[in-house]
Amino acid sequence: MRLRYNFRLSPTAGQRQALAQAFGCARVVFNDGLRLRQDAHAAGLPYISDGDLPKRVITEAKKTPERSWLDEVSAVVLQQALADLNTAYRNFFASVSGKRKGPKLAAPRFRSKKDNRQAIRFTKNARFSITAGGKLRLPKIGDVPVRWSRDLPSEPSSVTVVKDAAGRYFASFVVEVVKQSLPPVEAETGIDLGLGHFAVLSNGWKIDSPRVLRRAEKKLKRLQRALSRKAKGSNNRAKARKAVARQHAKVADARREFHHQESTKIIRDSQTVIMEDLAVNGLARTRLAKSVHDAGWSAFVDMLEYKAALYGRTFHRIDRWFPSSKLCSACGARAESMPLNVREWTCPCGAVHDRDINAAINILAAGWAERLNTSHTSGRDGTRRPGGGPVRPPLAVAQPREAGSRRCAA
Ligand SMILES: [Zn+2]
Repeated sequence: MRLRYNFRLSPTAGQRQALAQAFGCARVVFNDGLRLRQDAHAAGLPYISDGDLPKRVITEAKKTPERSWLDEVSAVVLQQALADLNTAYRNFFASVSGKRKGPKLAAPRFRSKKDNRQAIRFTKNARFSITAGGKLRLPKIGDVPVRWSRDLPSEPSSVTVVKDAAGRYFASFVVEVVKQSLPPVEAETGIDLGLGHFAVLSNGWKIDSPRVLRRAEKKLKRLQRALSRKAKGSNNRAKARKAVARQHAKVADARREFHHQESTKIIRDSQTVIMEDLAVNGLARTRLAKSVHDAGWSAFVDMLEYKAALYGRTFHRIDRWFPSSKLCSACGARAESMPLNVREWTCPCGAVHDRDINAAINILAAGWAERLNTSHTSGRDGTRRPGGGPVRPPLAVAQPREAGSRRCAA
């Protein structure tokens, strides 16, 4: 399977300039392609194919005085910018036609110099390489120093160079990783993503954001308020904006670290992980949820999914909405209503439920039912009730990551 390995880059002043030029050229080609397609659409002309687009906005454009400078950056970077545009269009079309689940996607938008994240991608064709001295050799950029926090497991197939809002540079390598095996365990885990806690597991564990993350988020809010009070165009405002961007990066790092730790623990301790599809989970679609967890859930779910694949565990998503909070996991009765402030309730059958743990158990049971209906290889007889405690394997297995490095699903 393919994974991303991310490392900080420390480009020289000259390399930063060359990167800025490459970011700019990629943006221009992307926007030219988008404009051409929009104009064709407005004029009632057919969609410009993926094959025709590079000819018009790269090959032909380079011959004009207005775009001759496109020659100064790697052609692969420009082609990859158009590949991104094509992907954005494909996702948009699939979303409009209903082939793609989840919230509706908007049409591709123009990229701006002011975007928080600037990125360019080099594929094998671009002949990027890692030098004997451990630098990242990029065509028309140079040998960029890398802060390696661990080894790459295999030769990368592509590298994306990113500049984030805090002005930091990263290299994100896509590498093929051999699946590893963890000792098998008995436990199966249902996960409820709720409001009271970051996540609640069917075995009764409640996961909360760590204090470092909560503190960093608080500080970010304070800095954002300070920024909003600064006069437009002032030096102080520019300074405050930088501080916000830096704190944003800190929050993102702390959150990623937290997601990695928790997802690794869950995958290590469970043979099967079941959760609701966020696209159909009612709560995840509300503004309330967004404000509380700042969309961190989807990154967390992605991690669970790739780690399950990497370590030979089963990950299952319930793709229908069902009232996980309202059902009694003991008798199956459905409560009339379950306001968000009810943390504990008693079913007429006598069972006393913690709202979130009960929901997680229901998710686990629903996942079983779905898998029984769809999977032929499942050996389950369907009579066992969920709730078996976790069996902790020894921690002798390799951890999927080391502190200080980042990666996410490819
Ligand atoms: Zn009951």
